[in-house]
Amino acid sequence: MEVKMLIGGEDLAAETGRTFDRIDPVTGEVATTAPAAGAADARKAAEAAQAAFPGWAATSPAERRALLNKAADALDAMTPEVIAAATSETGATGPWIGFNCMLAAGMLREAGAMTTQILGEVIPANKPGTLAMAQRKPLGVCLGIAPWNAPVILGTRAVAMAIACGNTAVLKASELSPATQLAIGEAFRRAGFPPGVMNVITNAPEDAAEVVNALIEAPEVRHINFTGSTGVGRIIATKAAQNLKPVLLELGGKAPLVILDDADIDAAVNAAAFGAFMNQGQICMSTERIIVQDSIADTFTERLAAKASALPAGNPRDQVVLGALVTPEAAEKMDKIIADATAKGGTVVAGGGRDGAIVEATLIDGVTPDMTIYAEESFGPVKPIIRVKDDEDAIRVANDTEYGLSAAVFSSNIQRAMAVADRIESGICHINGPTLADEAQMPFGGVKDSGYGRFGGKAAIDAFTSIRWVTIEDPHQHYPF
Ligand code: NAD
Repeated sequence: MEVKMLIGGEDLAAETGRTFDRIDPVTGEVATTAPAAGAADARKAAEAAQAAFPGWAATSPAERRALLNKAADALDAMTPEVIAAATSETGATGPWIGFNCMLAAGMLREAGAMTTQILGEVIPANKPGTLAMAQRKPLGVCLGIAPWNAPVILGTRAVAMAIACGNTAVLKASELSPATQLAIGEAFRRAGFPPGVMNVITNAPEDAAEVVNALIEAPEVRHINFTGSTGVGRIIATKAAQNLKPVLLELGGKAPLVILDDADIDAAVNAAAFGAFMNQGQICMSTERIIVQDSIADTFTERLAAKASALPAGNPRDQVVLGALVTPEAAEKMDKIIADATAKGGTVVAGGGRDGAIVEATLIDGVTPDMTIYAEESFGPVKPIIRVKDDEDAIRVANDTEYGLSAAVFSSNIQRAMAVADRIESGICHINGPTLADEAQMPFGGVKDSGYGRFGGKAAIDAFTSIRWVTIEDPHQHYPF
């Protein structure tokens, strides 16, 4: 499929005419040919978004809500074509991308509903006869940089609340999912948004730094949000700081699922399998460490291994639970992680096999801190089981990471589970639920090296507006001279 960028409402090639190919990780064929934008295209997108800003900022909440609802309907209707594009580009299964479209449409509707919740304040003033207000104002052009792993959800999240708040947006698509994320722009266009409110640009992987730098430096861009790895997040935060621009960062994770010895074991097994292997473990909230107390560890591990071994992995176009990893290289990394762990005393209790970009649901028992998989995000279907003595030990291991995005605790004693959950350093924690969860109205984000700022619900209004102090005063007030 050949695609074009969406800039100022038009389908555009890169100014140089250059393109790049995204390769299907399963077939090895070209999935998408997309424009390879450079700095000039980045500036053009920022200018188009700026040109649309005054008009969009002046629209009523009702107008913004109606268009966001139409974009949600358009995205819903596009689900089959988005599934086809994303399966070719990322190796994801149909159900995962179908869920992406459903949640993304929900995010657009939630953003539409929030247009009447962008509230200010009336603040008691000391000056007689004065009405003092704090008003929320849009920032201007917001840049969103989104990854490929939940391509529709994260691409939509990068722009939905920004646009609901009266800003205009430039979405920089992932090099690994250009057609999928251009489809989000297409949904906005089909909804009838004014040209330039939503822009999408695509770039070749080798041009990422040039394009991102040009966007961050563009004077029109007033806010940056980035979802991706902690390493690139650090580069973007530095660049944003040099340009004195606020940034919202949603970075990597190493989510712990803590199973206390009084947990319902089958419930914990189901949550662990879902959290570890949904989308082949390529989700920022994926269960990346299964922390289980010694006295139930054998039973739990046996049952989880049996469940994992029964999960079919294969071509995402077939009836499988696990599709392909995003690239053959990502799959090869799983071999290295497994070899490192087994060389240091870990035991593969489920899976371990690989066919090209397809990797079986794999569990390694007996994981210790010297193994790569203990600390590094695997971002694939290879997950560690770490055995611990007691609650203190479980909390210590759960916090023994630079990341702090999601977490979960299983126990049949809610007081005990809450006491443990309270001490886990993470932006999100679920008791008796999986580490994976996202709803449009929830504050979503991390602590520590998982980033800062929140998407979702009211928290996103803070992110995408600035507060302005406005007064109405007595013109005949007293002056000292
Ligand atoms: P990545 O950080 O490798 O790439 C993200 C984007 O950064 C790329 O599309 C690229 O355009 C850009 N980039 C790369 N090098 C750059 C540079 N030098 N300067 C500027 N920009 C550059 O991430 P990824 O592999 O696409 O995504 C996976 C990561 O994202 C994982 O770590 C995962 O945990 C994280 N993630 C986080 C969340 C969250 O909400 N916290 C959600 C999904 C994924």
